[in-house]
Amino acid sequence: MTVLRADVCVIGSGAGGAVAAAELAEGGLRVVVLEEGPARGVPDATGRPRDTLPRLYRDGGQVATIGRPPLMLPLGRGTGGTTFVNSGTCFRTPPAVLARWSGEHGIDPISDAVFERVEAAIGVAEVTPGLAGRNAATIRRGAERLGWSGGYLRRNAVGCQGSGVCAFGCPTGAKQHVGEAYLPRALAAGATLVTGARADRILVRGGAAAGVAAATADGRLEIRAGAVVVAAGAVHTPLLLAHSGLGGGSGALGRHLTVHPATAVWGVFDEPVDMSRGVPQSYYVDEFASDGFVFEGIAGPPDYLALAAPFAGDALRELMLGHRHVAQCGLMVSDHSRGRVASVLGRPLVRYDLGARDTATVHAGLLRLAELMWAAGARRVILPIARAGELRDGDPAPLRDLALRPRDLKLMGFHPLGTARAHEDPARGVVDARLAVHGVRGVHVADGAAVPGPLGVNPQITIMALATRLAHHLLATEATACRS
Ligand SMILES: Cc1cc2nc3c(=O)[nH]c(=O)nc-3n(C[C@H](O)[C@H](O)[C@H](O)COP(=O)(O)OP(=O)(O)OC[C@H]3O[C@@H](n4cnc5c(N)ncnc54)[C@H](O)[C@@H]3O)c2cc1C
Ligand code: SF4
Repeated sequence: MTVLRADVCVIGSGAGGAVAAAELAEGGLRVVVLEEGPARGVPDATGRPRDTLPRLYRDGGQVATIGRPPLMLPLGRGTGGTTFVNSGTCFRTPPAVLARWSGEHGIDPISDAVFERVEAAIGVAEVTPGLAGRNAATIRRGAERLGWSGGYLRRNAVGCQGSGVCAFGCPTGAKQHVGEAYLPRALAAGATLVTGARADRILVRGGAAAGVAAATADGRLEIRAGAVVVAAGAVHTPLLLAHSGLGGGSGALGRHLTVHPATAVWGVFDEPVDMSRGVPQSYYVDEFASDGFVFEGIAGPPDYLALAAPFAGDALRELMLGHRHVAQCGLMVSDHSRGRVASVLGRPLVRYDLGARDTATVHAGLLRLAELMWAAGARRVILPIARAGELRDGDPAPLRDLALRPRDLKLMGFHPLGTARAHEDPARGVVDARLAVHGVRGVHVADGAAVPGPLGVNPQITIMALATRLAHHLLATEATACRS
């Protein structure tokens, strides 16, 4: 068995883990980062879905939930975690969410200074209309004709060339995912990164963290450390805590999973849209945020359209022949449904059923999205519902009059959150308001698992900000203890 010693062992190198590691190492602590997946860089990002899905995503991008309906739950695996394959959209935690956390969970609001620190580190800026491309311009046209609120998205891509393949790795190195923006900082400050190392148990002695045990291709590895930061993501963090006998006191561990259920609508236009050119996710419409849904223009290469469109045979062939004329826009719901992650033979089994309220919200969102496509000038509107077919001549009736059932929908969940949720009360949360696991000293969670409930916006900035704050708290309060 190989043994390494550190002040802090960080598990996972994604949005939470890489940020915590860099802040802690730069603060002077000895840090070891364990990442189950491989080291990844620009050469791995060919931008071609058929190459990159198996290489960059966990289980080839085929992680799915069971339930009504089953959802695809894509997760990154490797340095940078899911940020390596994400769309680069950057939203701060909405003030209403911070207020809810404060009032209901006892969590102090994240300060502007912390958000600014994260945004500076990853180069957040608003995308320009030129780079955003014609898919975004089409959605903008529809929204503006309807008088709906929206705008170009803020993103973490420096020198972006609008190559249109963010979800398959950025081939230009422009996207400032945390493997690019934070891990090198951690390493420069002396941190050790071990890739291909799957943490399987958090070691505890006398009620306090003692380290982490992991499996690698070369055998067993043990990190002896007085503090542990778990950042394996909302699907894997609860399994690791449960396997270590930690965080189970409230009954919340593995529960309260939210995913921001998402789907898309396609419009077919007379003029070319060329949605594969430009930044895939670059324009948002938040007119209906208070009703529980937002739109984000999301595009991609033709292979992506072929996979996602609800057609087969001649209908798919016809759509693909005209793919230059297709625009796509995503719908994302702030969910009230709650799922659960359990372990079966050491692997996660995720159960998530879309409740009636969220089904109605998806229905309302699809109707509004069809309206937006008509306003933008679409000839046909294609729905993600085989039973409704497509809409023509501006007539929403086939969708409006449908008794929509969860099983009619093709959904994805890009934002798993909440499975080790933060709550000051040990009877209601897995971690406290400072992200320390209740009932044990020195074990913390700094990833999507700790985020209590849906945000209504994409979560990477929230996760990075929480990890930043946790690292600063550890540096202020535990540095001496860690070093002793
Ligand atoms: C296609 C796609 C597009 C997205 N677009 C956006 C976007 O535009 N904006 C946005 O804000 N969010 C976006 N997201 C979501 C965002 O990227 C995630 O919410 C965020 O990365 C989650 O951070 P995390 O730290 O919880 O987990 P991750 O970033 O997933 O990192 C977890 C890491 O832990 C590793 N790990 C797991 N188990 C172990 C173990 N036992 N031992 C060691 N390592 C382990 C994993 O391999 C992984 O690398 C997108 C997600 C997807 C899938
Ligand atoms: S659109 Fe920009 S950020 Fe996305 S993959 Fe292309 S160059 Fe990278």
